[in-house]
Amino acid sequence: MAADSAKIIDGKAFAGRLTAAVAVQVAALVAGPDVRPGLAVVLVGDNPASAVYVRNKGRQTLAAGMASFEHKLPAHTSEAALLALIDQLNGDDAVDGILVQLPLPEQIDAQAVINAIDPAKDVDGFHVVNAGKLATGGDALVPCTPLGCVMLLKDCLGDLAGRKAVIVGRSNIVGKPLAQLLLAENCTVTLAHSRTRDLAGECRRADILVAAVGRPEMVRGDWIKPGAAVIDVGINRVDAPDKGPGATRLVGDVAFGEAAPVAGAITPVPGGVGPMTIACLLRNTVTAACRRRGLPVPDAAL
Ligand code: NDP
Repeated sequence: MAADSAKIIDGKAFAGRLTAAVAVQVAALVAGPDVRPGLAVVLVGDNPASAVYVRNKGRQTLAAGMASFEHKLPAHTSEAALLALIDQLNGDDAVDGILVQLPLPEQIDAQAVINAIDPAKDVDGFHVVNAGKLATGGDALVPCTPLGCVMLLKDCLGDLAGRKAVIVGRSNIVGKPLAQLLLAENCTVTLAHSRTRDLAGECRRADILVAAVGRPEMVRGDWIKPGAAVIDVGINRVDAPDKGPGATRLVGDVAFGEAAPVAGAITPVPGGVGPMTIACLLRNTVTAACRRRGLPVPDAAL
């Protein structure tokens, strides 16, 4: 591949199209069966990054024509109090999706809270029932970030069958569900992690390389097979002294400047996977609203 030839995968533009398509689907649900999908977002504590995410989710939910319910609880909230709120939201018919913003304060067992959500309203797709359905080919609600990665890959590459995919990172929210989704697309999947031997060599064999690690610019240019599609899930804030004292910038898990001349296609950070996550959350809320009422789920094809 010649220098500087990578196609830049514009996740922001794709997410904009997906969000617009969701808004059309919502309008049809309101006009037809008189269903307005509703998303409840629960924020515990005052983590500033989480507060920004929750605000963005609420704004985009309303912009898509859905109902938005925000629940802000103090940092000292007990697990029992949070479980009581989840119980109330499970029973509220106006609520189709429930999202508990992570991380939670340390006195709360996050997995216990996630597993208390009605799986039919688990729009984050983290409930053990949805993880199991995804692994066994059922009608899961699929975690938003991996869903966004697969949408971008299919848009860029078309059929993914037979391609070798290497995912670096095996978390429950990104790496593992993405491995299931790419297997379902008939990729040959390798799931790499901190104990993987010869990580660079594994990455160099990938037609599709996904980095979901949380280590700034860990994946170097010479880890990439020429022409590979590179999806950078990482969001890392690093010091940027060139921008002034105390300034910071966002970088991914891939050294973009080195990778772009080698890759065939690559997502930037910001503007790649990040915007897809909220768009897929809106999409999942429509899916949940339809499935709960036995209505056909509108097509996500764009
Ligand atoms: P986790 O910390 O849960 O998982 C990180 C994974 O990376 C682990 O599997 C870990 O391996 C692996 N890892 C850590 N160090 C190395 C190493 N040196 N070599 C190989 N593998 C390593 O992270 P998340 O999955 O939650 O998030 C990953 C990144 O994606 C973060 O930057 C996060 O901010 C970002 N993110 C972005 C989202 C978006 O909307 N774009 C959404 C979610 C996350 P092991 O299991 O062996 O410890």
